[in-house]
Amino acid sequence: MHPSTPVPPAPSRRRLLAGGGAVFLTATAASLLAARPGGSGPGDDERGRKAALPGASPTASPASGWMPGVAKMPLERNFVHGDRDAQRGLVLHVQEGEGSLHERFNTPGIKTSSHFWVSRDGETEQYVSVLDRAWAQVDGNGSWASVETSGFATRPLTEAQVDAVARIYAWGAASHGWPPAVSEHPDQPGLGIHAMGGTAWGGHDCPGTLRSGGRAEIIRRVHELLPGGG
Ligand SMILES: [Zn+2]
Repeated sequence: MHPSTPVPPAPSRRRLLAGGGAVFLTATAASLLAARPGGSGPGDDERGRKAALPGASPTASPASGWMPGVAKMPLERNFVHGDRDAQRGLVLHVQEGEGSLHERFNTPGIKTSSHFWVSRDGETEQYVSVLDRAWAQVDGNGSWASVETSGFATRPLTEAQVDAVARIYAWGAASHGWPPAVSEHPDQPGLGIHAMGGTAWGGHDCPGTLRSGGRAEIIRRVHELLPGGG
């Protein structure tokens, strides 16, 4: 577990606001900022409530690990409720194909999934709460969220994909403490790639050099999207 990882909010303390997703997100983000080590306010109180994490009770707070404004398409299988030991950031993948991955990831026995999928037009689907463990990069599943990008390693991310991944990352930065930086190693929080985990992450050359090289621009846009950024 990364020692500086903020602890996600305890959902049982908050009532879901019907139609108030933005209000909920703001409250969640504020709580997470306050919960960072060294912070004051409710942080200590939140850290003492690990037993109430959403993973222990999947129905407690469907909103807290779900990004607002994207297609929410929860899987019925091929992930683990809870079981996240850190929020180090997001791992970029390439689909090597086109089209929504929801049906494939929901297939019994396939034993693979990702938190997010982004189409070449920037359409974003979320399949797994980032408070739950998706099955995208083996030993990296407990500490990292994951995003599949449609298309092939021989083609760079589209402009719309760069923008969509930046929006996912900015949300994760604000609400789950992902640092707005490029990562090149499993122990270095930030925006990483599947290949950086080597054999422990399945030994895949994913998402390839073209898409990996898009991370600097993604992080530049994340800084613009974050409050006070630019
Ligand atoms: Zn991959």
